[in-house]
Amino acid sequence: MSDPLLEVEDLDVYYGKSQALDGVSLTVERGEIGGIIGPNGAGKTTLLDAVAGFLDYDGTIRFNGRDVADLDPQQLVTDGLVYCTEDRDLFPFFSVHENLRMGAQFREDRDAVRADLDMVYDLFPRLDDRRDQEAQTMSGGEQQMLAVGRALMGDPELLVLDEPTLGLAPVIIDDISDAIETLNEQGQTLLLVEQNATFALRHAHRLSLLESGRVELSGSATAFRDNDYITEAYVGIH
Ligand code: ATP
Repeated sequence: MSDPLLEVEDLDVYYGKSQALDGVSLTVERGEIGGIIGPNGAGKTTLLDAVAGFLDYDGTIRFNGRDVADLDPQQLVTDGLVYCTEDRDLFPFFSVHENLRMGAQFREDRDAVRADLDMVYDLFPRLDDRRDQEAQTMSGGEQQMLAVGRALMGDPELLVLDEPTLGLAPVIIDDISDAIETLNEQGQTLLLVEQNATFALRHAHRLSLLESGRVELSGSATAFRDNDYITEAYVGIH
């Protein structure tokens, strides 16, 4: 039975006179990994920025059944929509531990926050080894783990990840892969946005292909894997 956590309907976004999204619709069901793939400039980040409350739009975005048009990004985080941006937005001079604690700044249940700190350190043992290290001195892969860890500290109902594999070595991508699978097995709903279609197809249950601001294809991971256009244009290029 359908149980949508995120519903995007007929979304248009403009930067000045330039249209970045044109009639975009998609749904992420509770418990699943939703995927969005598409080339450079397709509008993927724009879509996430709108969903996270950073951009004005025409159309409808519902989270947990509620129209979120009037909510600002902080309210959305408090409601459980936590966005891990492509830029990671870490506090560079703060330690790993301090960055993780910042992710929980809007939460009041200190016991639950402590339990989630343990959960993040279990998920990413490399962070546990580097609790006191300044974020800016970490490798790109470690910073990505920290960004995901900090997002998890917000206690997301929906964890939104923008290009988590961008620029990372294969061995680190494997760590991110394992973390995504573990989280989803534990019931975490995710929206995964990737230029790396191979990675997205490995994890997402259902996907949308975004090209030039429009959803050109949507369907199950199996349908995407069986689609000649997808395999020829997108798979295997990473
Ligand atoms: P990438 O994978 O390279 O990050 P993307 O699919 O995330 O690409 P967006 O960053 O959403 O694509 O960009 C979609 C379109 O909107 C592009 O044509 C881009 O130049 C334009 N755009 C993005 N941000 C702005 C902005 N702040 N002002 C004007 N145009 C923008």
